[in-house]
Amino acid sequence: MTGLTRADLDAVPSYIVHRIPERHVNLSTNEVPFGPLPGVPEAVADATARVHRYPDMAATELRDALAARYRVAPERVVTGAGSAALIEHLVRATAAGGGEVVHAWRSFEAYPVLIAAGGGRSVPVPCLPDHRHDLDAMLAAVTPATGLVLLCHPNNPTGVAISRPELAAFLDAVPPHIVVAVDEAYREFVTDPRLPDTLAEHGHRRNVVVLRTLSKAWGLAGIRLGFLVADAQVAAAVRKVVTPFSTNALAQAAGLAALRAEPEMRRRVRVLAAERDRLTDALSARVDGIPRSHANCLWLPVGERALVLARRCAERGVTVRPFAGEGVRVTIGTREANDALLDALGPASAEPG
Ligand code: PMP
Repeated sequence: MTGLTRADLDAVPSYIVHRIPERHVNLSTNEVPFGPLPGVPEAVADATARVHRYPDMAATELRDALAARYRVAPERVVTGAGSAALIEHLVRATAAGGGEVVHAWRSFEAYPVLIAAGGGRSVPVPCLPDHRHDLDAMLAAVTPATGLVLLCHPNNPTGVAISRPELAAFLDAVPPHIVVAVDEAYREFVTDPRLPDTLAEHGHRRNVVVLRTLSKAWGLAGIRLGFLVADAQVAAAVRKVVTPFSTNALAQAAGLAALRAEPEMRRRVRVLAAERDRLTDALSARVDGIPRSHANCLWLPVGERALVLARRCAERGVTVRPFAGEGVRVTIGTREANDALLDALGPASAEPG
């Protein structure tokens, strides 16, 4: 292989999400378990009649609906094929050519891959022992070579969020010519009003970009739709590097239908937040040190026991996501799925694995 492709890619890990056996309870991919929101299948079915045509390149109707929903000017909104794609586009627009991208670690496992794909250099900054972003260290990692800073709030895989004063102080301290992107893929699952809403509270800062996805709470993981809100000039630059037509016709229709079903989305999130509390209590009786999660997943910091614990769950028909030597991430599922997980782990007194 050497010689035919970019040498730096040899060192980049692959981001691979394995197929889940059909019969398994899947608590490994941070999706919402209740099916598409009402109106979405019909809207997608209608849109299939026009799939021989290119979609609206600017996704005008969807962009306008997002802009109205989030109270921003439409020119500040960029849609794409999931927020993963938008992260890569943002790297291309801010840090291509080897610019450094400072991000927390452990965080979303695709970051190093997306950063490399966008032509940037990943600068991972270890999280604090309590799993918070180490914002002081991240600030210290910002150099003249930095093109982008990426925060994950709440963080995947831990669900740990950034506090309101911490975020404000960090944004005040970062040089204003450096873009700070806050990945809020899990924002809809935040129920604690003390936590900051970056868009509402810091969206006016020219260097702040907020990344959101319709894959999680909005239930559209399979259709690939995300968006970002940025300063109009930053948004225009990102639009130049977006893969043309990547917000496809079905995604545009699905996104509009999902936004119309927001009350049902909120109801589902409330169910999952209650299950998150229940599962946190039940799992904390079995595993020490589970951090308070504000996302639809929980982090079990079991270290070297991660693979054994995941295998034990798999043998009992429950798929979870292990990170070798670090821990296990479990997605909050339906009550039945969460019970299946608790059964798989065994009684509270038993040592898992
Ligand atoms: N950001 C975070 C923090 C995530 O966890 C994920 C998906 N797991 C994404 C972005 C990407 O989501 P999508 O591409 O489906 O919008």
